[in-house]
Amino acid sequence: MKEVRTTLLCSNCFKEAPMKILYIGNSMAKITCESCGYTIKVAPEEAIELYLDDLKHRILTKPLRIAKEIRKDSFQFISTFPLRVITKPLRVAREIDKSMI
Ligand SMILES: [Zn+2]
Repeated sequence: MKEVRTTLLCSNCFKEAPMKILYIGNSMAKITCESCGYTIKVAPEEAIELYLDDLKHRILTKPLRIAKEIRKDSFQFISTFPLRVITKPLRVAREIDKSMI
């Protein structure tokens, strides 16, 4: 069994809550909302899709958050922020796009 944690919109309590995705063998995954305890069972392909959607959304919105940081205090930000943290999300986003084609 493999466990993945992510934040998703719960279809039961309609909150963005931490979700525990548990893979059971190769045929089933169980998603549990840690806010209300709601549990659904889905095929693993669907669980992976949900997870990737969420991950992709977070990676793609990250440059925007970084841009806001830069505007807030540009000198301190540039002098303390390691460059590889900026380039890494972009590489990951590119990899996800490739795997979806
Ligand atoms: Zn819930």
